[in-house]
Amino acid sequence: MSKSFYLLAAPLLVAVIVIYARTTLITPPAAFDTLEPADIPPGTEPFMAGRTLLKPLHQEKLPTREGDWLNRHAELGQSFLEYAASHREPLDPRMRRLRVQPIGDLSNIDLKLMAEVALFLEAFFQLPVTPNVAVPFGILPSDAERPGEYHTQRQVLTSYVNQNVLAPLKSDDAAVVLGIVVDDLWSRTGNYLFGQADLGNKVAVMSIARFGDPSQGRTEYDLCLRRAFKVAAHETGHVFGLMHCVEYECLMNGSNSLDETDRKPLEYCPSCQAKLWWALRLKPATRAEELVEFEAARPILEPLWQQERAIWRRDRSGLVARISGGGEK
Ligand SMILES: [Zn+2]
Ligand SMILES: [Zn+2]
Repeated sequence: MSKSFYLLAAPLLVAVIVIYARTTLITPPAAFDTLEPADIPPGTEPFMAGRTLLKPLHQEKLPTREGDWLNRHAELGQSFLEYAASHREPLDPRMRRLRVQPIGDLSNIDLKLMAEVALFLEAFFQLPVTPNVAVPFGILPSDAERPGEYHTQRQVLTSYVNQNVLAPLKSDDAAVVLGIVVDDLWSRTGNYLFGQADLGNKVAVMSIARFGDPSQGRTEYDLCLRRAFKVAAHETGHVFGLMHCVEYECLMNGSNSLDETDRKPLEYCPSCQAKLWWALRLKPATRAEELVEFEAARPILEPLWQQERAIWRRDRSGLVARISGGGEK
């Protein structure tokens, strides 16, 4: 072939490769709303409309960084409609209580922080929360603890805490029992965990071991508190059947590190919020008002709450009533 052919073809080939690469990189996960219309439960329309109202406030998922959760785990996410189709019934009215269970040998500062987690969850999920009296671990079996590699603390096995400590404490009125510990946690599949949910037993455990030392002053306490709020609302969401989010920067994003947890907002994205409205039949406007009120006595925890409150205050379409009324279900 002639030299001029190569001179012409080479830039074209580069252009094709660039277009291919760009298309490959920006193609979103394929799993969204693959439902047949017949599989979509009736009454989802106001929830979809509410989700649309909140969309402009929320950041779509940014590209992942080296070592981030989605770099290590191929996840497709879960759309609101997929969630509604697999969770057709709202939460049983006899089980509308969250229980927060401190476990272990805890200082007064630890207990104060855990009591604040309970108050936060009450506003976030709009469910009554009972902080239980702290219980000891008791004597752990040898395969449920190991020497910690972090601050020389011991590590405790998440599945042991969920199955042997929390599940027996679950009362009939509780939707979720969330255990909080100061020991570092690990599971059979990883070095350490911030928390882990057990959907079968409707319990979850979380640790504040890696969130900083809350006894070191106001700044450290507030940072530890904000991280604890994030993991508490994330693990509780899992127990309600929410899977990891890949659509937005969202509290239900998976997290592989403290840095990744710190980058998440302290709020669910529009799709994950719609799942909560659907499952809990909560009033989104009341939720936003109460989250802003909760924040009043604390440093700014999440600017999105005020912005969402403004959206709901402006809504004159009766959408909130239709969401909390549950549509045609
Ligand atoms: Zn998770
Ligand atoms: Zn989300």
